[in-house]
Amino acid sequence: MRVLKRKNPRGWEVEKVCTGENRGHGDGGCGALLAVEETDVHIFSDFGHLVDGDPRFFGFICPECGKCTGIPEEELPESVKNRAWDEFRKNMNP
Ligand SMILES: [Zn+2]
Repeated sequence: MRVLKRKNPRGWEVEKVCTGENRGHGDGGCGALLAVEETDVHIFSDFGHLVDGDPRFFGFICPECGKCTGIPEEELPESVKNRAWDEFRKNMNP
């Protein structure tokens, strides 16, 4: 028997190329094509990962090269953004 359609697909996922870019700057990524899932999206600041500073942006870390690539906010569902904010706040106030 084959499953034609699962009731719960794997959830939100988007294909992204590692460019190492966020909001117009960055030093270039490795060009890997990645399937970014909800739990891969984090909030970053100019001062590094999960550090309290402005301006903040959404992005992911490439598993190949470790660089951060930003994702425009308008490409992210509310649920993904909310999860990232929850994680960010938890890390700010453990
Ligand atoms: Zn990369």
